[in-house]
Amino acid sequence: MEKSILRVKLPVYLDNSATTPCDPRVVEAMLPYFSLNFGNPASRFHLYGWEAEEAVDNARIQIALLIGAKPAEIVFTSGATESCNLAVKGAVKAGTGHQKHIITIATEHKAVLEAVRDLKQEGCEVTEIGVNGRGMPDPAEIEQAVRPSTVLIAAMYANNETGVILPVREIAHIAKVRNVLFFSDATQAVGKIPVDVNTDGIDLMAFTAHKMFGPKGVGALYIRSKTPPIGIRPQLSGGHHERGLRSGTLNVPGIVGFGKAASLARDEMKTDAERLLAQRIKLENSLLELPLVFLNGDPQSRLPHVTSISVSDVGSEQLLLYLSSKLALSSGAACSSATHEPSHVLTAMGIPAGLLHCTLRISQGRFTTRDQIDYAAEILNKAIIKIRKETSVPSSTRLQPSSF
Ligand SMILES: *Cc1c(COP(=O)(O)O)cnc(C)c1O
Repeated sequence: MEKSILRVKLPVYLDNSATTPCDPRVVEAMLPYFSLNFGNPASRFHLYGWEAEEAVDNARIQIALLIGAKPAEIVFTSGATESCNLAVKGAVKAGTGHQKHIITIATEHKAVLEAVRDLKQEGCEVTEIGVNGRGMPDPAEIEQAVRPSTVLIAAMYANNETGVILPVREIAHIAKVRNVLFFSDATQAVGKIPVDVNTDGIDLMAFTAHKMFGPKGVGALYIRSKTPPIGIRPQLSGGHHERGLRSGTLNVPGIVGFGKAASLARDEMKTDAERLLAQRIKLENSLLELPLVFLNGDPQSRLPHVTSISVSDVGSEQLLLYLSSKLALSSGAACSSATHEPSHVLTAMGIPAGLLHCTLRISQGRFTTRDQIDYAAEILNKAIIKIRKETSVPSSTRLQPSSF
């Protein structure tokens, strides 16, 4: 039995890019807003409403501080999927002009790609920019793609499958010079690495609480305030909450938790990132000791806590199910692994077809310890060697799954 097994609770959670646990301090901050201070912030004439409104205002400040925004530039939503839809559809539909053109990147999250696809079906023109083998788009290609009819450039901040950090500032600069709106899905970056909407030059930005140790079901869209204001067509009709941009009673406990998560991230992001990067390097070095193991994504421009590897001759589903009592991680992205389709991100990077189903994403978080990473490295190495050995013998003598 593995030596380190005694020290860690199993299975070890290494799927923080799919979602993170709520920090206990976040839960504590949220609790009063369920049964005690349960008011609707839209209630104007009593203390319950006022208390709820104050809590939401406070969270808006905490979140704005994390990204260098003004509180009034934050619109609360149900999560990053909704924020991406509101940004992309809202901005494009509010845009004037007969023909509208959108530029996006092939490795975007489906929340962006499908929103763009919907607009294409409604007659918009779309340019999808490819990426190189390291997952990076070429800003020069983006620049060449801009047309007089371009209304929006949508480029994510950091990729959810590989952790690759895109050249956001260069893309933002192109957008600014050409007078085009720049939207970034920063769901994987906010709260993990420094993101500042002003230094980064972002006009619209989506992010979500549950990827940064906050609760699920609450997100934000940053909308730069400028003159003339950025036009955003609301995607929900209703009671005109959030300055008419997003109707629906606010998720007050969720928003309070999101605010707390933002303020914790502001304080702890730097030390967390340093620690997780050291652990990531250790884990990657250990995995790369095996032959035919490949690291995906740019080795420099990458999130400190995310590893994507392809392991030749080892199907990731087989490996993950075999390890499921010990390790909780994912093959590529959580969402695309449900469909069994090869990842559009890895495909766009030109990863050879034979490796597309042999890819693992190991994503650490604030609560990932050194012991857990040592354990994961040990378990993964053993499992890879074992599966390779078994699959290389003639099929008639292969071990049955039950003997795993
Ligand atoms: C998780 C994720 C989303 C979706 O966020 P939800 O809050 O779950 O809707 C969008 N974009 C990226 C890059 C993500 O990682």
